Amino acid sequence: MKKILVTGGAGFLGSHLCERLAAQGHHVTALDNFHTGCKANLADLLRRNHFALLEQSVCDPVETAFDEIYNLACPASPPHYQADPIYTFRTSVFGTFNMLELARRCGAKLLQASTSEVYGDPLVHPQTEGYWGNVNPIGIRACYDESKRGAESLVYDFQRFHGLNVRLARIFNTYGPGMNPSDGRVVSNFIVQALRGEDITIHGEGLQTRSFCYRDDLVEGMIRLMNAPDEVSFPVNLGNPGEFRILDLARIVLEKTGSRSSLVFLPMPQDDPMLRRPDISRARDCLGWEPGISLHEGLDATIDYFRSLIAPLAAPPVRRAAQGV
Ligand code: UDP
Repeated sequence: MKKILVTGGAGFLGSHLCERLAAQGHHVTALDNFHTGCKANLADLLRRNHFALLEQSVCDPVETAFDEIYNLACPASPPHYQADPIYTFRTSVFGTFNMLELARRCGAKLLQASTSEVYGDPLVHPQTEGYWGNVNPIGIRACYDESKRGAESLVYDFQRFHGLNVRLARIFNTYGPGMNPSDGRVVSNFIVQALRGEDITIHGEGLQTRSFCYRDDLVEGMIRLMNAPDEVSFPVNLGNPGEFRILDLARIVLEKTGSRSSLVFLPMPQDDPMLRRPDISRARDCLGWEPGISLHEGLDATIDYFRSLIAPLAAPPVRRAAQGV
């Protein structure tokens, strides 16, 4: 049984990672300040033995020793990370620094959750790990893109200077059950809008592409990366190479939900990448990993999940029997 810390452990990905690690018999500690994470995501885990919650910022001191640290803490949805960009930058860079120091003190292995955003609006397609990216350093996405790039440089300086055992996953767009309905990213927005009969908000003409990876595939990739041989300390793309235009995603969601929502076209946000698709040759070679769940299967499961959340809210209030007040 390993002692494992998951920062951002109450988030969408973090909480599923905690569940998988706990199911494997490890002692798992989730660290989260609930800035974007949600305590309800940990409801089952909090009833288990060998699970602990540290309710604090990833930037604040942690005194406990761990064998492994998965560093996921950071707002990741554009509306959330742009709402308080200074907080986002601080969380990403200071938080990673704090976790690297912790790993150094206790001799832990650290896996950094980086992002496809380090490639910016890419000029190389699909994106390989060797591509250095095309990022606007002063734009509205920079608080996330550049802070994640800064965190990557810290990770490798700790490796070079302190001999730290590090792993680095560049995570592409991920979705699945457990997403917050107000997450703000495209898959959850479109499904929630379709189920509520609201307009589907397409940015630009919807010709920009993304590659969507199902939650469980992604979590499996992260665990494999942490457990890979020590030589696998270089960045590894984790994502699903299936590439879809946002407009096509909207049409698929409308068809699957049977919704009569209309498509509305809004201005394209500044610096929004036009293309995104991972080259996952490295993950295939080094981890024997590739996604197993197609967008169609994954969307079905995600739509079922959102239906279960939204249907009870939309239903007329149930009349309760009088309580004899
Ligand atoms: N997007 C959209 N409508 C929405 C939310 C997002 O058209 O309601 C677009 C967004 O502009 C981007 C893509 O969908 O081009 C993916 O956005 P998301 O926020 O999910 O993730 P990103 O890859 O931009 O971080």
